[in-house]
Amino acid sequence: MEINNKHEKCTICKKEYTSTYAEAMPGIKIYVCESCLEAAKNNFIWICMSCGQVYIRPKKLVISRLRDSELLKAYLLCEDMQIIQGIDVCIECDPEGILRYMDTQKMAMEC
Ligand SMILES: [Zn+2]
Ligand SMILES: [Zn+2]
Repeated sequence: MEINNKHEKCTICKKEYTSTYAEAMPGIKIYVCESCLEAAKNNFIWICMSCGQVYIRPKKLVISRLRDSELLKAYLLCEDMQIIQGIDVCIECDPEGILRYMDTQKMAMEC
């Protein structure tokens, strides 16, 4: 998380203005207001880079649905981190493309 010198509309809720931003992908900034940052503690947040759709899913729910032990390990490691992840496509804008994506993300977005 870094601080910008000007205020931009929060990419997640599109309501609040904030100067805090993160890089969702190299070179792509997303702005995150305080309440969305707070939400990121208990939820995984994915943001679609092509249509802007935001997916917020409770970490506990996502983790409880994981069957793959390697993935589970990886996700448990980030349970305490604030994760806001940019994705190329989502179920909304590219139902075919999302199938090429990691199963976890697809699964998480469907819950
Ligand atoms: Zn926000
Ligand atoms: Zn999308």
